[in-house]
Amino acid sequence: MSADKKVAFGWIEDNKEHLIEISDKIWEVAELGLIEFKSSALLAGELKKHGFRVECGVAGMPTAFVASWGKGKPVIGVLGEYDALPGLSQKDIPREEPRESGKPGHGCGHNIYGTSAMAAAIAVKKAMEKSGPRGIIKFFGCPAEENYSGKVYMVRDGYFNNVNAVLGHHPGSMNAASLRSSLSIVSARFHFYGKAAHAGGAPEQGRSALDAVELMNVGVNFLREHVIQDARIHYIVEKGGFQPNIVPPYARSWYYVRAPERHEVEYIYDWIIDIAKGAAMMTRTELKVEVEAGIYNVVPNRTLAELIVKNMREIGLPKYSREELTFAAEIAKTIPREAKVTQLKNTKRPGWEQLVDKLLDDEVPDPWGDGEYMHGSTDVADVSWRVPTVEFYTATWTLGTPGHSWQNVAQSRVGLGHKSLIFSAKVMAGATIDLLTDGKIVRKAKEEYRERIGNRKYKSPIPVGSKPPLDVWEK
Ligand SMILES: [Zn+2]
Repeated sequence: MSADKKVAFGWIEDNKEHLIEISDKIWEVAELGLIEFKSSALLAGELKKHGFRVECGVAGMPTAFVASWGKGKPVIGVLGEYDALPGLSQKDIPREEPRESGKPGHGCGHNIYGTSAMAAAIAVKKAMEKSGPRGIIKFFGCPAEENYSGKVYMVRDGYFNNVNAVLGHHPGSMNAASLRSSLSIVSARFHFYGKAAHAGGAPEQGRSALDAVELMNVGVNFLREHVIQDARIHYIVEKGGFQPNIVPPYARSWYYVRAPERHEVEYIYDWIIDIAKGAAMMTRTELKVEVEAGIYNVVPNRTLAELIVKNMREIGLPKYSREELTFAAEIAKTIPREAKVTQLKNTKRPGWEQLVDKLLDDEVPDPWGDGEYMHGSTDVADVSWRVPTVEFYTATWTLGTPGHSWQNVAQSRVGLGHKSLIFSAKVMAGATIDLLTDGKIVRKAKEEYRERIGNRKYKSPIPVGSKPPLDVWEK
């Protein structure tokens, strides 16, 4: 192990308790996207304390920031996320019980995501301080991954220009740097405006905006037969009127449309717009469409994925205490075996069958899944269109744990989550040190990135001039 890595890992070990405290604090405050004021301040403050130059409020978001240290080239970025999910409040116990009913919770483990990258950045700085800086380490504080895709604004505003490689760590059920891509997405709200009238006394004078919402949904549900296999369309009805005796003058739906390639998602989305126009025409209501967010599909990078796997193996997987294994076993009881089989099978990871009877992933496979898609989306994708990027996973949650669940929240602030935090911080620090000290890896990652992009073009998926919707939680 190199002297730099020894210093970096030593710093992480020595500061373990403090790092866990930070992650747990972010878990407790559980702030929603774009209003992660305490969480971002906590991480930015820590980086500042360790001598990083911190630029706050970047790309029009008060909770976005960039912290840098070092000089020269290359520039290596690490990603931090810290937003929670609405309605997922949960105690750190292995049965479903909210801390505060209806409040947000860290159902995607972003308390760990933010802290592991921060720890890695500081640890790398400690190592470079000793041996002399050979490049710049940048921590990107990225708000609102779950809803408004903060990174898309940061990419659009040039914050990832001149960065040579980017690493992100996401808590997961496996130890993996997969080569699977993700789905590109459009998130849009459909507002319909009708006319209120007494639904019993004067229905002929009313124009129902809710009818338009319903007819649009019917049209879209028929469209499903004619979209490609990997496409996904889902919606909610956000406003449907006041009470049954008033013809609803206003109604609103919120749609996500996903497909692997950008042009595929745009094709389906355009068709959906036609359906919405049709619904407005049928009901004699007015339609307003509002694009809320858009993201691309991930461009994987084998060079970076292999670097992560190499570091995971060099460091060695965490060992779990009896207490941690008991917690995992309790959680496992709440997960049906079939759900576990489906989840593992979908990864198509070699040897997934052996994992079905295990509690936690206990190996590090070679990167897998090139040419395949996971059916979710992430704004890490937009970074990956600008810079060679890898987002890797470490076992935080019992195998089979569904995403965005109470089980995720609970496991993200107990021993299981803490082990994942410390392990992933070391992996990220180790890989960053390799990138800062071996120019060959950076060059190879860049070549591969160029090859994979080919003649595809990146055009920001959000409307020109649009600003992050900072008032969204007041709506
Ligand atoms: Zn997430």
